[in-house]
Amino acid sequence: MPILIVTVLALLLIAWFIWQPRLVSQRRERQQAEAFPPAWRAIIRRSVPLAASLPADLQMQLRRHIQVFLAEKAFVGCQGQVIDDEVRVTIAAQACLLLLNRPTDYFPALRQVLVYPSAFGVDIEHTDDIGVVQSGRDWRAGESWQEGQVILSWEDVLTGAADPHDGWNVVIHEFAHQLDSETGLTDGTPALANPERQASWSRVMQAEFESLVTALERGEEDTFLDPYGASDPVEFFAVVTEAFFEQGPELRAHHPALFEELLAFYRVDTSAWPTARVSAAHSVGAKHHPPG
Ligand SMILES: [Zn+2]
Repeated sequence: MPILIVTVLALLLIAWFIWQPRLVSQRRERQQAEAFPPAWRAIIRRSVPLAASLPADLQMQLRRHIQVFLAEKAFVGCQGQVIDDEVRVTIAAQACLLLLNRPTDYFPALRQVLVYPSAFGVDIEHTDDIGVVQSGRDWRAGESWQEGQVILSWEDVLTGAADPHDGWNVVIHEFAHQLDSETGLTDGTPALANPERQASWSRVMQAEFESLVTALERGEEDTFLDPYGASDPVEFFAVVTEAFFEQGPELRAHHPALFEELLAFYRVDTSAWPTARVSAAHSVGAKHHPPG
């Protein structure tokens, strides 16, 4: 009898593993087929000029991804931040840019997006030059946790979206970290198609990272890539992803090998995207907090 029970349970488990992905995929297809609310289109036009300027086929794809993303991910307001469609759609539209043209499981580890009204304080400790541990507070625009959360400052979300060509976008940055984590290891290398791509990625990324570090050590102040990318390979991947989506033509011109690696991974040629109009409403007086 126990053998029979174990056999039945094993069969049920096997059936679950076979059917569960199909059920998820059918549910997502239904969500994608739903009508996209006109109010959400208006939010994208108003707050996310990069998404609103995409070629028509990518805009359609993006809208489908947004519907699944918003159906699956919980949003939590922190320190009094109200969560409404403005917040949800503005964040989802930027996060889903990273999913275009790629097979995706919609940031599978991510369960919650926590939103603060503005930059949030994080207690940090570091060891100073004479070996004494100093504690302090860092102000962050965003953070990505491997345990299933992305944390964002709403003020910085708007600032990042408002100028689609400055290479600074906290949502793109933090969701690049989520892609990076999908391998189970956050190390600056997302899941790549095959060993050849892996080898090419390692070679190019390491060379470009070291070149940025060296340029900063030499005292260069006008590096095209954000110096924050020199922190480590993890931040480098997030920073170059921001540049890839917001400054495609410039990235291709300044760092062609790097652009090609990102193009092979993201499968959208951002160097050919039409120039988006910059929304003056949010871009004046932009201030950037470290993305984390
Ligand atoms: Zn980061």
